Amino acid sequence: MSCLFCKIIAGEIPSAKVYEDEKVYAFKDISPQAPVHVLVVPREHIESADKIDATNSATVAAVFEAIPKVATACGLTCGYRVITNIGEDGCQSVKHIHFHILGGEKLPENMGN
Ligand code: AMP
Ligand code: ZN
Repeated sequence: MSCLFCKIIAGEIPSAKVYEDEKVYAFKDISPQAPVHVLVVPREHIESADKIDATNSATVAAVFEAIPKVATACGLTCGYRVITNIGEDGCQSVKHIHFHILGGEKLPENMGN
């Protein structure tokens, strides 16, 4: 297994866990870009949001069911941002679908650059 996030989910690489359930794991980003920066990932390896289809969409739904629980665990009572980067132009560096949860302050309005 060469995938970094699969190794984190398996406990082979340490992480700062925020939340977990049967299908989902969430941990602090190692290089935070906001006061709260957490990555929410499915235990199932899916390359990116561009690979979501009828065979794996229930897994993605489980991630979105977990996100409000992650936000609560992180004390994000005033809102937050959910971002997923896809492929080369989206600057996706880890090829295991993940959702950035950013918050803990008023975020910049400009998301594009
Ligand atoms: P992306 O650029 O959307 O693929 O996001 C990958 C994220 O993974 C980046 O924000 C990195 O800071 C984060 N990251 C990389 N390695 C680790 C790690 N070992 N533990 C936690 N976060 C990581
Ligand atoms: Zn993986």
